[in-house]
Amino acid sequence: MVDLTGPNDLATVSRELMRNLNTRAITSVLFNRGKTSRAELARQTGLTQATVSNITAKLLESSLVEEVGEGQSTGGRKPTLIDINRNYGQVVGVKIEKNFVLTSLFDLRVNLIDRRETHFEEVPSSGEVIKLIENEVTNYESEYNVIGVGIGASGLISDSGEIIYSPILNWERSKLGKPLEEELSVPVLIDNDVNAFTLAEGWFGAGKNYRDFLCVTVGEGVGAGIVINGSLYRGSIGGAGEIGHTTLNPDGPMCRCGERGCLEALASDYFLVNEMNKRGFGDKRISTLVAEAKEGNKFARDIFNRMGHNLGLGIKNLVNTLNPEAVVLGGERLDAAEFFISSMEEEILNHSFPQEARRLEIVTAELGKKAWLLGAAILPVRNFFSLPLTGRKGKTRTARTGKEGLV
Ligand SMILES: [Zn+2]
Repeated sequence: MVDLTGPNDLATVSRELMRNLNTRAITSVLFNRGKTSRAELARQTGLTQATVSNITAKLLESSLVEEVGEGQSTGGRKPTLIDINRNYGQVVGVKIEKNFVLTSLFDLRVNLIDRRETHFEEVPSSGEVIKLIENEVTNYESEYNVIGVGIGASGLISDSGEIIYSPILNWERSKLGKPLEEELSVPVLIDNDVNAFTLAEGWFGAGKNYRDFLCVTVGEGVGAGIVINGSLYRGSIGGAGEIGHTTLNPDGPMCRCGERGCLEALASDYFLVNEMNKRGFGDKRISTLVAEAKEGNKFARDIFNRMGHNLGLGIKNLVNTLNPEAVVLGGERLDAAEFFISSMEEEILNHSFPQEARRLEIVTAELGKKAWLLGAAILPVRNFFSLPLTGRKGKTRTARTGKEGLV
């Protein structure tokens, strides 16, 4: 294991700290670029060749990185290329749903190795979920070198991994991170599931080219992940992005949160079911409404069209507040996107400040359902390498100035 603890006299500590920062600069460049020569590593990090050689020797010894062949010669000898050893360790990604828990194992490049699904008759208590995760991780540990666990769950989640409130799970003040960490002795990272989804799209999907973007998910609820300058913005208590409960119409329909006219009450599955009720649809399943819309049913299409307008209004408010480069639209209801995306776009683009509207890109998420689990697995990988969520404008962090900071 790479040892991040150290002695405590000040000079040694600052030397150790410097070495850790430099090590992280090197591993993060390797993670982002893949195969890289030592000379290129020095260029990318701003470190001297000697420091790079020294650190890579230690990393090779620990087997966190490996030599992976030769690169192009620039006149002299062909340089040896180095890359992250994706099998050095594994991470466990968990997604907690209302009636089931997904557990999965990924390598350090976030490739899926194994995936399990456990169903519950009723919404499980946090104690039951803790027990389940403990068991699954312990099982994996018998065969793999698990270096961290990442969990995505709906609701308000504190920095310390406490689920402050989750209306979908009906959990309040549920400590999850601490007891798991004590039991498992590896870092356990927890975040709101929409934030985890956003991370996945930011690393591997539709958000990877942007430094400032919103990821809006539409399904049972409406949520948003906010990425500002390459970092996820969580807010003071992890509540940023609760776009679903911003008010569109104070006299509008009742929302599940107890308020009236929230965006979620006007643009989510909750809205679709209410509309089906109002219009006397016999079958209240969303899948039926989607199928009807596909077959050209005017009422079904009209419902989605209105949902698009409402969603556009809600997103426009956030666009005018944050001025992102792009909006990435994701979530389960992308399956009916063709019936609401144009009215949504029209609303966002027609009413935002023209200058912003012209530059704003509206794209759909690329990773589908797997983004929820992938995002949970990214949490411990990101923590291990201290990686930021970059984008095309992203500069490589330099260990010399440290200006880009560790995110
Ligand atoms: Zn609400």
